[in-house]
Parts: sequence; C-alpha cells; structure tokens
Amino acid sequence: MGSNGSRDVLHKSPYPLPFHHLIESFRALPGIGIKTATRLAFHLLKAPETDVTQLSRLLSELRESLVLCPQCQNIMDRDTGRDWCTICSDPARDPGTVMVVEDVQTLYSIERTGEFRGRYHVLLGRLSPLEGIGPEALRVRELLERTGSGEIHEMILATSPTVEGESTALYLARLFKPLGVKVSRIAFGIPVGLELEFVDDITLIRSVEARRPM
Ligand SMILES: [Zn+2]
Repeated sequence: MGSNGSRDVLHKSPYPLPFHHLIESFRALPGIGIKTATRLAFHLLKAPETDVTQLSRLLSELRESLVLCPQCQNIMDRDTGRDWCTICSDPARDPGTVMVVEDVQTLYSIERTGEFRGRYHVLLGRLSPLEGIGPEALRVRELLERTGSGEIHEMILATSPTVEGESTALYLARLFKPLGVKVSRIAFGIPVGLELEFVDDITLIRSVEARRPM
C-alpha cells in the first residue's frame, strides 16, 4: 500500500481531529512514516505532563532562541551574551583557516568528526542560476569582509559535489585566490568499506584525481 493508501486509512480512522493533526505533523518530518508518526503521538499521549510541556516549549521557542553568528552564520544561543558562536569564540581554534560550507547542517557534520580545528563560514545556500540564486543571495560579502581584515589565510571549500556546489566552489576560488588566500577544495572519493566495482564512474575518476602519495 502506498502513502496515499495510508492517508485514506487515516482519514477514515476514528482518531479525534487534534490527534489526527498531531500524527500528520509528525508525518511531515523527514524519515517519519505513518507507523512511527502514530507511535510518537500515542507516546506523547501517555508521557508525563512535564515532558510534554517541555517539548512544546522547546518547539515554540526554537526559532527565537537561536540567532545566526554575525561572523560565520552558524546558529547560536541568543542568551549567551557572547558576540559570536562557540566556534568563533574559541581561542584554541585557528582563525586563519576557514572551512566554507553551504549550510549549518554540514558544519555540524564536519564538527562531529572532531578533526577540524579551524573555523567556518556558512554561505546559507549555493549558487543556482536556474533558481535565480546569485552570489548576492549568499553570505559572500561577509566572507570578503573577514578576508579583508587579514584574518583568513587558508580557505577550504566544502560545498557539495553537485553542479551547484561545484560552481559555487569555482566562483569562490576565482574570487579569493587573487586576494592571496590559499584556496583548496575537499576531495571526493570512494566511501570507506565499499568495493571498487560498485563505485560509479565519476566518483572513481574523482578519487583518482584526488590521489595522494604514500
Ligand atoms: Zn561563528
């Protein structure tokens, strides 16, 4: 049965309307199907009042409790009293090496590895002429300001290996190299643990191009 089938079953179901709306809200979240959505709704129905109140408060205050770091555009707690996010405020992190990413989610994916000790710059998007997204729609001006202050000497372009991500990286490389910034692009290659025979041609070519001496 497809998702439309499931939806019909739900509409004919005896759930009261507020409960039905809660299930539908869960279903709208990524990776949540009808069974999980229903299970979550029933879980909340039985959960202690304080837990439900806390969850509801966190959700309703989420947007206003977060602001963007004026330096790197990472999300930060509005109430810390700090000017910048925890990464930009960390004196142990190299301010001269900046990893440029498309979105905050990517920043946290890299941060999770614990391997990168520089700082970030979040573009909040990527170039897409077809959708009318030009450089002025991205946080490029802020990156130019950071470079202009002489703070950045190395830039690692970590935009996605898509057409838009590649053209964004190319645009930034052309813009920042003449300013004396050492610009590099992250390598794209074969997932660890995957047999080579299963790798697509473009990924294989990219991995050969990004080879390193041993
Ligand atoms: Zn920051």
